[in-house]
Amino acid sequence: MNFDVLVLGSGAATPTYNRHCSAQLLSLCGSQVLVDCGEGTQNQIRKYHKKIQSIRTIFISHLHGDHFFGLPGLLSTMHLCGRTEPLTVYAPKGAKAVIDLLFEVSGTEVRYELVINEIDVDDVTTIHCDKHFSVKAFPLNHSITTFGFLFEENNILLNLRPHARSQYNMTNDDCIRVKQGEDLTLDDGSVIPNSKLTLPPRLPRRYAYCCDTAYDESLIPIVEGVDMLCMESTFDNSLSSLAEERCHCTALQAATIAAKARVRRLVLTHFSARYTDIAPLLAEAQTMFADTCCATDGAVFQLVNQQAMPE
Ligand SMILES: [Zn+2]
Repeated sequence: MNFDVLVLGSGAATPTYNRHCSAQLLSLCGSQVLVDCGEGTQNQIRKYHKKIQSIRTIFISHLHGDHFFGLPGLLSTMHLCGRTEPLTVYAPKGAKAVIDLLFEVSGTEVRYELVINEIDVDDVTTIHCDKHFSVKAFPLNHSITTFGFLFEENNILLNLRPHARSQYNMTNDDCIRVKQGEDLTLDDGSVIPNSKLTLPPRLPRRYAYCCDTAYDESLIPIVEGVDMLCMESTFDNSLSSLAEERCHCTALQAATIAAKARVRRLVLTHFSARYTDIAPLLAEAQTMFADTCCATDGAVFQLVNQQAMPE
């Protein structure tokens, strides 16, 4: 199953010709998940040939316009295009009142079931769990209430032991059930316990999204060892005072979090509109953490499977 991140917007508060406001579409083990929804996000979804109606869950980090102002329009378009599937939105307090008021004054009555769950956590907390993935939210250090998200895939199948299939003449259906944890019943009625047939599953893939936030080392244990960390880097390090004043990070600070948390890969995003060339920000980050790349609108990042856990 794929675990991909499509960048829909990689700019900061002010969109530019090349960079839209923050939004990402996750293809998460069979589910389509939207993370943040800055102005213009629905156009970006169409531009990159994705279907808005396939989105089942939306996570909003905070209510600044560059992360939230695209949501009312997207919800309205889903309605106008005849959506009937339910939709769940997770967002900080206040989002429901804004959406309710906009729908009231515009006479919009959506036909689909819209559930807006307001996030209210002060520590790392699981806010969503289904058969495909789970999501933890955690507070970030920004100028208004803001949450980071940690996405983790669920229900990873066990690995078959070498030769188990041929030894017990297992069918494809047998293999699936055994990988799901069932014992195997042979034709003579004897039962082979699952532990004799399987090895532990590979590690679940994990993706952390931290946008927007000031430099804050309390993030390190939360994102430790993730397969991919997407971190805001609004400024270069010559503007570290401005970053601190506005509760944002520099590229070097983002890379410092990545290095200290020993993540596998760092993606920088949320670049100030003042930068027409972000190569210096990338270079700055790579002095601290080599496996860094920069988000661009339309870029896709794949999280690859890790090897199986040791027996
Ligand atoms: Zn922002």
